Amino acid sequence: MAQHSDRLLQASKLVAEHAEYTDYCCEQLQISQTWALASLVQRSSNSLAVVTQGNQKCYTVDLQAKTCTCGHFQANSIPCGHAIALLESLQNDDLDTP
Ligand SMILES: [Zn+2]
Repeated sequence: MAQHSDRLLQASKLVAEHAEYTDYCCEQLQISQTWALASLVQRSSNSLAVVTQGNQKCYTVDLQAKTCTCGHFQANSIPCGHAIALLESLQNDDLDTP
């Protein structure tokens, strides 16, 4: 509970300073990026995909609904590693386009 209060206090200060991300959010995004590196993305559209982790577990990501079957994306609105993997897959396609 104290941790939640600390995060809320920090977030309030950052909003007052017009900063975009809390330390907690940055930390979670870094963890998600690490997970994304070892994932395989099978897209059915630009917002929907099945992401297979390095340990072969599969999760379905829906970017429009901001959900993932792992439950983390919708729990705190910070993209999980599966969502980051899909976003990076989309970004790589854009980079490959001449
Ligand atoms: Zn996920």
